[in-house]
Amino acid sequence: MRLYNTLTRQIEDFAPGDGETVRMYACGLTVYSRGHIGNFRTFTCLDVLRRALRHHKGFRMREVMNYTDVDDKTIAGAAREGVPLRDYTDRFIQAFADDATTLGLEPVEESPRATDEANMQAMSDMVAALERNGHTYRSDGSIYFKISTFPAYGRLSKLDESGIKPGARIDADSYDKQDARDFVLWKATRDGEPTWDLGVGPGRPGWHIECSAMALRLLDHPPIDIHAGGVDLIFPHHENEIAQSEAATAKPFARFWVHVEHLLMDDTKMSKSLGNIFTVREVIDRGHRASALRYLLISTHYRKRLKFSWESLAQAEEAMRRLMDFLARLDNVASQGAHARTAQRVAEARQAFGSMIEDDLNTAGALGVLFDLVRTLNSAIDGGDVGKPDVATIREAFESFDRVLGIVALRRREEQQAGVPAAEIERLIAERQDARRRRDFRRGDEIRDRLAARGIILEDTPGGTRWKLK
Ligand code: AMP
Ligand code: ZN
Repeated sequence: MRLYNTLTRQIEDFAPGDGETVRMYACGLTVYSRGHIGNFRTFTCLDVLRRALRHHKGFRMREVMNYTDVDDKTIAGAAREGVPLRDYTDRFIQAFADDATTLGLEPVEESPRATDEANMQAMSDMVAALERNGHTYRSDGSIYFKISTFPAYGRLSKLDESGIKPGARIDADSYDKQDARDFVLWKATRDGEPTWDLGVGPGRPGWHIECSAMALRLLDHPPIDIHAGGVDLIFPHHENEIAQSEAATAKPFARFWVHVEHLLMDDTKMSKSLGNIFTVREVIDRGHRASALRYLLISTHYRKRLKFSWESLAQAEEAMRRLMDFLARLDNVASQGAHARTAQRVAEARQAFGSMIEDDLNTAGALGVLFDLVRTLNSAIDGGDVGKPDVATIREAFESFDRVLGIVALRRREEQQAGVPAAEIERLIAERQDARRRRDFRRGDEIRDRLAARGIILEDTPGGTRWKLK
C-alpha cells in the first residue's frame, strides 16, 4: 500500500510497524453540534482507508476515533443552554453515531470521549511528564507548552519560524499559523466552567493534549502507525500533538500522517462557523439516499478538494443506479456456459482496482475501473458472453470491490429498510407519471397512497419526483 505522508510530503510504502496490526488514530468530531457532510467527507474517506487496509491488504485494525467533548466550543454551548457538559455533548455523540451508521462507516475499535475518567487522568499525567521534562511554564494558573524547548516544532506544517514571538502565548484551541505561540496544555479554572484536579492543579485540558493522551493510552507505545484528520488540523492541532507526545515520551509519535482535503460549498470550506453546512440528515430529508452521498464523498481523490452540489449528488445517484441495475441484471442470466474471455476481463479489473486502491487510495480511479467493467459486462451479456458460472465470478469481484467502497451494501440495506426495492419504487413513480400525463389522477393518487402505506413518501419537485423514507 502506498500512502502520502504529510510529514515527509511524499508517497511512501505503508505497512504497520509490527507487520500485522495497524494502530491508527483519527481525530473525531467536536461534539458541540451535529456533524456536517464536510466532517463526514473526512470520516468517509478514512473509512475507505480503514477498509482498504483491513479487507484489501488483510491487516488487523486497532483504530481510535475520539469525541472531543470538552473544549472552548462545547463548554460555551453547554453554558448557553445551562446544562451539564456531558448532557450537552451526549446528543451530538448520538447524532454522530446515527449519521455514521447511515453512511455505512465501519465501527472502529475505540470511540473514547475525552472526558472519560481514564482519559482525563492520562492528559493530566502527560502534562506532568512535560513539566518534569522542562517543556512547560505556568502563568495565571494555566500551564503552557514552551515551543522553543522543542526544536522540531513546525516540521509537520512547514512553519516559518521567523514569525514566532518567543514568550508570547495563546489560550484559544484554534488559531492560525501566523499566531504560532506557546500553547495551552491545561487551562486554569474559570467561573462556571467544568474543572478537574488530577495532579497538575485544578483546571481543564486544552484541545491538543486530549488527542495526544488518548492516542498513547489506547494505542500503547509510540510510534503509532497512522494519525489522520482533515487538512485544517495540520496546524496547530497536529503540530501541537507531535510536540506534546514527543516531548513527553522522547519517541516519534506517528509514522504516517494522513490528511483529507476539504469539502467545499460555493468555493469555500464547508464549516459550521460560516454557516454553509448541510448535515447527513438534511441531505436525506431532501429525498436523497445516503448511498449516493457516500458515493459522492469518495468519488474524488481524498487529497483533492471536492465541491458539493445537488447536481453532483444527482449524478452520484445516477451512477449508483447504473451499478445496481447491472447487478440486478446478473440475476436474469440463464445460460450455463463459462466464458474464458469474460473471466479474464473480470480478473484484469480486480487487478486494476487493487492497483488503484494501493496507489494512495485512488478511489476515483477504482470507481473508473468498476464502471468500465460494468460497461464491458453489459455488452458481454448483450452478446451472450456471460453464463451462470461467469456470474459467480463477477459477483465475487463486485463483492471484493464493495468491501473497500461500501456503497452497494449500503444501498441494499437502504432497500431492505425501505421494505420496497428501489427499482420497484422507480417503476411505480414512472407509472404514476404516466397516469398523471393521461390525467388519470385516481391511479396516480392510488400509487402514491400505496407507497405511503409501505413507508415511502413521494415529493414532486420541478426536477421530477423524489422519494424518501417516512
Ligand atoms: P471538528 O469537529 O471541527 O474537530 O472536525 C472533525 C473533522 O472534520 C476534522 O478531521 C476536520 O478536519 C474535518 N473537517 C471539518 N470541516 C471539513 C470540511 N469542510 N471538509 C472535510 N473535512 C472537514
Ligand atoms: Zn485530535
